Amino acid sequence: MATVKKKIKTIRVDADKCNGCRGCEIICSAFHAEPKYSSINPARSRIRVISHRLKDIWLPVFAGEYAPSECAGRDIYVIDGKEYDECGFCRAACPSRDLFKEPDSGLPLKCDMCEGEEKPLCVTWCLNDVLKYEEREAEVEEEEKKPEELEIGLESLADKYGLPKLVDAVARMSKKG
Ligand code: SF4
Ligand code: SF4
Repeated sequence: MATVKKKIKTIRVDADKCNGCRGCEIICSAFHAEPKYSSINPARSRIRVISHRLKDIWLPVFAGEYAPSECAGRDIYVIDGKEYDECGFCRAACPSRDLFKEPDSGLPLKCDMCEGEEKPLCVTWCLNDVLKYEEREAEVEEEEKKPEELEIGLESLADKYGLPKLVDAVARMSKKG
């Protein structure tokens, strides 16, 4: 397979420094509000701070790929000898929980590295230096075309309501327009 040069964007997470202030959730949800900065709702954020106060951990997790069905596996994390819940640190929007789903529509959310901005806003807003932005060039295999956010959203709605209902709803909306 042919290889191409690609800019790889990474956010390095120094979890030990996180104090759970949730500034990253606030700016992410504001940036992605419609219109931009019109509201703040951490449930719409593409970064969520998973907290276990009793176990003294705050771990920022970025929304990853949409998973149309539950995976068969369940991971258990052991950190400093303490056990954390199955699925607790998973990045996927999947049917088994509400995390990383737009609260009104249920559409899956995914971190887009604040497309259009020079630097991810959660990195700028984290005053504790937990999040560090890095860029590098790497030689990677040419990717097949990935589905756009709109296609992923439509796929998740079709999974939830069934394709005929989705088609009916779109037809009704187009008549109103
Ligand atoms: S802004 Fe930084 S310190 Fe605050 S919750 Fe987010 S990652 Fe943690
Ligand atoms: S990089 Fe941007 S889109 Fe991704 S979690 Fe941070 S603020 Fe949200």
